Amino acid sequence: MNSTVAPRRHEVLVLGAGYAGLAAAVQLAARTRGRGDLRVTLVNPYDTFTERLRLHMTATGRRTAELSIPELLDGTGAEFVRGRATAVDPGARTVRIDDGRVLRYDTLVYGLGSVADIAVPGAAEHAHTLDGPEGAAVLADRLDRLARRGAGTVVVGGSGLTGVEAAAEIAERHPELTVVLLGRDEPGAGTRPRARAHLDAALARLGVRVRGGVEVTGVLPDGVALADGTRVPADAVLWTSGTRVLPLAAAAGLAVDGRGRVVTDRALRSVSHPDVYAVGDAAAVRQGYGVLHGTCQSGMPTGVHAALSILRTLAGKEPRDFRFGYYHTPVSLGRNDAVVQFTHPDGSPRRIVLTGRWAAKYKETVTASPWPTFVRMKKAPASGAIWPRGGRHTRTRSTK
Ligand SMILES: Cc1cc2nc3c(=O)[nH]c(=O)nc-3n(C[C@H](O)[C@H](O)[C@H](O)COP(=O)(O)OP(=O)(O)OC[C@H]3O[C@@H](n4cnc5c(N)ncnc54)[C@H](O)[C@@H]3O)c2cc1C
Repeated sequence: MNSTVAPRRHEVLVLGAGYAGLAAAVQLAARTRGRGDLRVTLVNPYDTFTERLRLHMTATGRRTAELSIPELLDGTGAEFVRGRATAVDPGARTVRIDDGRVLRYDTLVYGLGSVADIAVPGAAEHAHTLDGPEGAAVLADRLDRLARRGAGTVVVGGSGLTGVEAAAEIAERHPELTVVLLGRDEPGAGTRPRARAHLDAALARLGVRVRGGVEVTGVLPDGVALADGTRVPADAVLWTSGTRVLPLAAAAGLAVDGRGRVVTDRALRSVSHPDVYAVGDAAAVRQGYGVLHGTCQSGMPTGVHAALSILRTLAGKEPRDFRFGYYHTPVSLGRNDAVVQFTHPDGSPRRIVLTGRWAAKYKETVTASPWPTFVRMKKAPASGAIWPRGGRHTRTRSTK
């Protein structure tokens, strides 16, 4: 009798097929295709990829491409599970899915992204958000009905880049509606004066009424309340101010930061649970200049790096340090205008600013690029490992 037992397959479970989770899953699956000793399983509530960078377009009724995740994974050996993770048990190394299934893992990649921070009273009940395709479609429907009525006021709460993009998009698509953009900061804060001037002019051209320096204290069924005691009436409120992450990691006892993000080491492993890697917006990844703020440009590299760290660890090697430097902040201002503020690796603005039609083309190229990158990575995984490492801004003693 043959007593040899086949070695158990190493199970890598990736939670979330966003920019970061999908990058991790494709990179891992492509590099281990046909190996039989490692299996990748990807869990996501939808079987199409949500281009979160386009959700402000979805919210104005524009159709975006149907990008099938199972088709992308086809031929890589990775398995796709449609579902929503509801609990992680790091002791048992299992994840519970909303349909009751329990999935086992040896290594977990946590990439559940972030959602709008609706902590302000009334926002959860009365405000729309751009957290997913369904919510964006509900807003699109509401805006359509207001536009058919011929008038209405839409308040966009939050003057960060998502708020600016959404306000411009709504104003361009629905010129009959009054769009009010409210926030603590002036739009474009943190960009060069030339970028800010272009942004201000574009918002004015589109008729967006901007009020910076205000604090929204509550969202009401018919408007928003401000800290100075006044109210801004609205027929619809879109909330874009700040982001928060799902409480799953904190509930599971993983070390998280003040915003609930999984705190990682330089290889992108959880500092409390090294068999858990965290990527994208759900991770608190420290670089020489500070903790990464959630962006697509940094999210995809974290996914690829986590995959490479997992493979190095399984091969008995020390994983490399993750290093990333920002290079741009592109902001769309409707379909034919944009501002691109080029940045230093630490995110501070450089002198170079692109505006107008060329900036809009640049922004569209950037927005459209993740999916072709995944497709390319499936065939040539090394192509996904190219990103700016940040030079001296991210160099530490161990990376010299
Ligand atoms: C309107 C808008 C415009 C933006 N524009 C830009 C931009 O121009 N440039 C830029 O760099 N960034 C931009 N961002 C930010 C960018 O979208 C995020 O930083 C990026 O999506 C983070 O990628 P991620 O993979 O971490 O998360 P996500 O892309 O949010 O992916 C998370 C995935 O996890 C899934 N998920 C959620 N909960 C569960 C669960 N319980 N179980 C399983 N799966 C789950 C989600 O469905 C999703 O597929 C924009 C954001 C918005 C909203």
